[in-house]
Amino acid sequence: MMNLEELVSQYREPLENAPLDIAREWKKSHPESKWVGCYPVYTPVELIHAGGMIPVGVIGGGNRLEIAHADSRFQSFICSIVKSTLELGLTGLLDFLDGIVFHSICDPARNLGSVFKRNFPNLMVEYIHFPQNMTSPHTVNYLTAEYRRLKAVYEEVAGRAITDDDLHRSLQIYNEQRRLLRELYAIRAEKPQNVTAVESYIVTRLATLMPPEEYIGILKDALATVRRRDEKPKDRIKVVLEGSFCEQPPIELIDGLESAGCYLMEDDFLTGWRFFVEDIPVEGDPVYNLAEAYLRRSVYSGVKHDTRERKAKHLIDRVRETGSAAALILSAKFCEPALFDYALYRQALEKEGIPHLFLEFEEKMWIFDKARSEVETFVESMLFD
Ligand code: SF4
Repeated sequence: MMNLEELVSQYREPLENAPLDIAREWKKSHPESKWVGCYPVYTPVELIHAGGMIPVGVIGGGNRLEIAHADSRFQSFICSIVKSTLELGLTGLLDFLDGIVFHSICDPARNLGSVFKRNFPNLMVEYIHFPQNMTSPHTVNYLTAEYRRLKAVYEEVAGRAITDDDLHRSLQIYNEQRRLLRELYAIRAEKPQNVTAVESYIVTRLATLMPPEEYIGILKDALATVRRRDEKPKDRIKVVLEGSFCEQPPIELIDGLESAGCYLMEDDFLTGWRFFVEDIPVEGDPVYNLAEAYLRRSVYSGVKHDTRERKAKHLIDRVRETGSAAALILSAKFCEPALFDYALYRQALEKEGIPHLFLEFEEKMWIFDKARSEVETFVESMLFD
């Protein structure tokens, strides 16, 4: 059993420097295992896992990765994760993958899928077209068909059929994983002094880098530590963080936000790996259930086109439900979906009289003083208002 302090000290540095090393090491000790990369935000990982393969989050390259080749394939005004993902590929750091999946979340991600197809002809490169119309009576059937198409591709990579029983088992495992992650977030929202956002981030990020059977044990140990803690609350303001659903901020930046005087009550880090508000039903047609869950049981997100309820309403609800005093909008530089959302969030927050601060980050940034002092000034303006 590893307690949370040991877990953080073992994994923080690899997660900051070269996160995929964790998956690559695992593959070294299990050379026969097959791995399929999942670009953020959301991938139906059960379809991969049910084929006996391991879904791995390809969520940026970490601090050590120099962008030396990918710049020549993209314009300069593009988010960092698109470039770092291609750089990982061009430098052989994705060679341990048997395939990679992209999604229709934005134009850069769409282009990245095509660039991968052209540059890595021997790699299975897939692209999920998520529905853009959530209100049509045909949407669930459309997505079910899209998932069945993917399933057939995964069967080729796995070299075997994927049965409903396989899928039922995978749904059960990932339901458990997501349930435990929801519990971690619930504890943080109730007693943020007992688990920091950095700890919660490190625990959650590990879910993207190892088989769920192995990870669930680690997660249970981490939860046991958190449940035992009884820390005194500090004099901080409670905030909800929004805007980091795809490219991830450096861990040091998350640390800086907290130490500048905030409790992050909720966030959207790694949201695709915690994508459902409740379990996906296991019984019945598992592919249909996965598609239905995307429509009816998933969280809101900047890249899920859903006109049924305004995203800004969800953010306001989150602020109110967690008893937060403010919102922090932390978005990746050049991330269009996040910037479009910000206009709506800002309008709604101002209307509700909820203070907010907007910050931008890049996956590979070294200087955190400016962001930290902006947050400190924001916190002070609220504490001494
Ligand atoms: S960070 Fe934003 S712009 Fe970049 S790939 Fe992700 S969603 Fe698209």
